[in-house]
Amino acid sequence: MDNELQARLRAQLEAELERLEAEVAEIEREGHEALSEASGENNYRDHMADQGSATFERELDMTLDENVREALAVVRKALARIDAGTYGTCERCSQTISDSRLEAMPTANLCITCKAAEEGR
Ligand SMILES: [Zn+2]
Repeated sequence: MDNELQARLRAQLEAELERLEAEVAEIEREGHEALSEASGENNYRDHMADQGSATFERELDMTLDENVREALAVVRKALARIDAGTYGTCERCSQTISDSRLEAMPTANLCITCKAAEEGR
């Protein structure tokens, strides 16, 4: 991979990292608000239905939270691979991952063959 492409992909990954970190911060802020609202509702027994939906929303938030954290970890790993000089190399078979695959998916850590094999399992 040429340096120019790697620099471009690194910039993309860094922008994505920033976006995801902002999203995690936002989810955490909303999570705290939802929690304090829900505990406030515990004082009113006739608001059980509302309480139920608050719990449901909280569970949705947690799923979203996990997805974002997972995406964040994947982006961090890709940046670490750039720093380590192993970026663009398949982690399973050590083949070079094609530039076009990396351009489409800068976080790719497997070549298309290994990825297909993994998904086929
Ligand atoms: Zn491979």
